Amino acid sequence: MDNTGCELSAKKNQYLKFVYLEGGAVKTTTISRHFDVAPSTVTRALGDLEKAGYITGVRYRGFCLTPFGEDYARFLVRRHRILALMFTRSGLCKEDACRQADLVESKVSRSVVDTICASLGHPTMSTCGRIEPDPIHCCPVAGVGERFL
Ligand SMILES: [Zn+2]
Ligand SMILES: [Zn+2]
Repeated sequence: MDNTGCELSAKKNQYLKFVYLEGGAVKTTTISRHFDVAPSTVTRALGDLEKAGYITGVRYRGFCLTPFGEDYARFLVRRHRILALMFTRSGLCKEDACRQADLVESKVSRSVVDTICASLGHPTMSTCGRIEPDPIHCCPVAGVGERFL
């Protein structure tokens, strides 16, 4: 599936990232409590995400990511961490950088993330955690640098 990384609303972006970082199946009530949002609102958003193929319902245990959703969420986390790093390098404190990244990330496309990643020297660590390299689209792999010269 082709995508720019801006397919999801800011909220759905956060929910998907949350499910990914929790690992395994996550209950609607866990998400609603974490984000302080009404369960009915979360249920509706998760229903949309399920219909679009990002997550799938697990009986009694909530929702877990589909392989596509997992791949997508990996990008969401990478994007968040790269943006947070960009903000900390610009002088923001760790907390503000994380908050600003949360606010803007859903509008930042994959190609922009890759451009920022390259400009930061393909970092592997951010104040928000480890940045998974994306060797297919962006980050050079040790030993096969020729490709990127
Ligand atoms: Zn963060
Ligand atoms: Zn990179």
